Amino acid sequence: MKSQDHDVAIIGGSVSGLAAADNFVDLKKINEVRVFERQEYDDKRVDCGEAINDATLVPLEKNPSNGFLNNVTGFQLRVYTGTDRSSAEEPLGVSNLRCDAGYICDRDTVEQQWARRLSKKGVVFETGKSVTAGEYHDITEEYDYVVDATGQPSLTHKINDEVPDYTGDMVALNASVKGNFSDYIEYPRIFFEGYVGYSWSFPKSETHANVGIGWAGDQRPNDYMSALEAAAERNGFPVPAQEDVNIYTIPRGPSLEPQSVHIPEDNVFLVGDAAGIANRYQGEGICQGIRSANILAELIAEGRESVYPDVLFNNMKSEYRLARLMRGAWVEHEDPQLLASVAEALEGLTIDDITRQPRRVIGRVIQHPVVATQLVADSGMLKRLLNAYTDTWEYDTRKSV
Ligand SMILES: Cc1cc2nc3c(=O)[nH]c(=O)nc-3n(C[C@H](O)[C@H](O)[C@H](O)COP(=O)(O)OP(=O)(O)OC[C@H]3O[C@@H](n4cnc5c(N)ncnc54)[C@H](O)[C@@H]3O)c2cc1C
Repeated sequence: MKSQDHDVAIIGGSVSGLAAADNFVDLKKINEVRVFERQEYDDKRVDCGEAINDATLVPLEKNPSNGFLNNVTGFQLRVYTGTDRSSAEEPLGVSNLRCDAGYICDRDTVEQQWARRLSKKGVVFETGKSVTAGEYHDITEEYDYVVDATGQPSLTHKINDEVPDYTGDMVALNASVKGNFSDYIEYPRIFFEGYVGYSWSFPKSETHANVGIGWAGDQRPNDYMSALEAAAERNGFPVPAQEDVNIYTIPRGPSLEPQSVHIPEDNVFLVGDAAGIANRYQGEGICQGIRSANILAELIAEGRESVYPDVLFNNMKSEYRLARLMRGAWVEHEDPQLLASVAEALEGLTIDDITRQPRRVIGRVIQHPVVATQLVADSGMLKRLLNAYTDTWEYDTRKSV
């Protein structure tokens, strides 16, 4: 029996919105959970974000019918001299990172099946239509809690004309391709090639993969599609047809001032990409989005939702810090050999370690004194270390990170 009547509206029904709905529908104090999603779940959706590093966060059985296609052992980082090289050139360094709960998914299917599960649990879906600014205001009037899970830039900030608050983004292109991926089905590949960003080839099966390229820095090519084609040729994955390629942006967390994730007067809370929390180094955002929804629901259950911005920020802090340092390893030195040595020092750690556990990463690097000394023998890198641990860098919206 529900004990009180609180209604929740969730705007945006992708991974973060679905995670929010899944949490709320089980809360005693919540009566109605309604998800507004502009797309139809049965239509083709944006083909992105298909590696889920911790699939335990998605409450579905892990089988192909639910979109969980390739249960990977880990991911392989391959560091090269740069982009101006032949496909025969060997990498400067290779590192295998474990990922026990990692899957390459068909994300459309995951979301369809997740929405289906939620419908059965009583969540109401309104799909196939964008929430407009006028409707947004009606929703904030009508519902006790509003979760904005609309991605970046969030509907809330668009309506409030605060989009510039997001400090930056990563541009990424991706597509599904056919080919032979049997050589690395267990260890999908990530290629670092001397720019801030990377390309990837993530097999969903032995004959089918999600491939792409992304840039996180200011130096981006003039022609994104040609850059993807060249990366495919160099790195030995099939060149996608232009009409199959999606282009998208990923917010670089924490690109918003932490307090911007809660609008107390309307009881609006931002989760996932809308909250600007995707990993600023490698662009991962699915697990981050789900975790933010989980945190929010737990706080609402306890009646402590006003501390959501602080709790979210503290939860993400190690990840922001580590991303800052990892990026520094490239940006401050621009030395592919050093990056390769750092990658090799991380061999055998997990994706979670290199994403969210700075101590484990630093511990590993210190075991390689030559690499560690080289890394910190740079004023920019020392400054990054200092800033990362004195919190002076996090939400300075004027600086590119
Ligand atoms: C090319 C690419 C590859 C990526 N690869 C990975 C990866 O391998 N692993 C990973 O973890 N992350 C990856 N990411 C990042 C990841 O995709 C995002 O972090 C993640 O999708 C964020 O989920 P979200 O639910 O917060 O937002 P989104 O996925 O952006 O979803 C927002 C939802 O809101 C809906 N919406 C928006 N506006 C409205 C409106 N006005 N009314 C109603 N509905 C609305 C949209 O239709 C959409 O369904 C990748 C991103 C890109 C671009």
